[in-house]
Amino acid sequence: MDLLSEVVNSNHPPEGIDGSLAHNQSLQALFHTLRAIRASALALAGGDLGVKIEAKGYLAGSLKTLQAHFKHLTWQTQRVAAGDFSQRVDLMGEFATGFNAMVRRLARTVEALQQKEAEVTAKNQELVKEINNRLRVEKDLRISEERYREMAIMDHLTGLYNRRHFYVLAENELKRTLRRGHSLALIMLDLDHFKKINDNYGHDVGDKVLMEVGRVLTSQVRSMDICARLGGEEFVLLLPETQDPQALNVAERLRESIAHSCVPAGDDWVGVTVSLGVTGLNNVQRSQSQEPKDLLELLIKQADRALYTSKTAGRNRITVYELPATPDKN
Ligand code: GH3
Ligand code: MG
Ligand code: MG
Repeated sequence: MDLLSEVVNSNHPPEGIDGSLAHNQSLQALFHTLRAIRASALALAGGDLGVKIEAKGYLAGSLKTLQAHFKHLTWQTQRVAAGDFSQRVDLMGEFATGFNAMVRRLARTVEALQQKEAEVTAKNQELVKEINNRLRVEKDLRISEERYREMAIMDHLTGLYNRRHFYVLAENELKRTLRRGHSLALIMLDLDHFKKINDNYGHDVGDKVLMEVGRVLTSQVRSMDICARLGGEEFVLLLPETQDPQALNVAERLRESIAHSCVPAGDDWVGVTVSLGVTGLNNVQRSQSQEPKDLLELLIKQADRALYTSKTAGRNRITVYELPATPDKN
């Protein structure tokens, strides 16, 4: 009895049965069963849920049941950790109540968090939409601003600069040219008998002719040249770094190209010629005001005079302005 009691109660139970009792088979069996149950109970208490419980009988069976419960509980906890909040424990009294309350609370918290997350995501999407909308509006605004700016400086029909912007650009160019002491030429051109085209073919065809002249001018000049429609059927070109002879060449090229161009008018093709007047800074006398604004006016006046000479001489021709023998007041 002492021996068996030691197996159950002692910190250091005996390893085996010595002496005369060693031959008692049923005592041996009970002794080893108790030792095996004790070992299993110790392992379970130490957290080893995988311990193999070999012993048979009521006590060992209870231990196995306890082991199965612990294993199931472990699995349930892992499921909860993975987000399965349907797990409930129905054993182990207050532990079960606490566990189930904890899982229910977790489920509610997670649900609330998910709802908040959905709200934040929806708000985010709204914000992204709003930002994109604003970006689009800003882009449209920028484009229309650019278009307005363009419209303010361009002639809408020909796409060339308008009169106002020509004066701005030309004055700046003159300032630069004067500072460097370089040459500069100015060509004016006017369509010949343009009124007849309007009268014979209509205003729309007249517009097409103006556009075609604008296209030819743009295609024939350098990017540094300033080309504008002064108004009506009158155009002007400012050619930096250009002497009169070169300007005459440019004018001749333009005259010829325009004379060879034509636009459709129903079954007909309509052509046009131009008269040109050329002048340059070499025609400006020292006594003249050297203010860019005044110089520009003077050059335009000279080119216009030369142009008038071309008109009276029969049109479709070029006149290079020449200073009068005796200085005049221009
Ligand atoms: P000239 O050879 O002497 O220059 O004769 P012209 O007929 O070209 O000159 P005139 O000044 O008598 O007529 C110019 C015409 O240009 C009159 C006007 O209706 C027309 N015109 C001006 N602006 C435009 C425009 O934007 N489109 C059209 N289709 N015609 C225009
Ligand atoms: Mg004309
Ligand atoms: Mg005219």
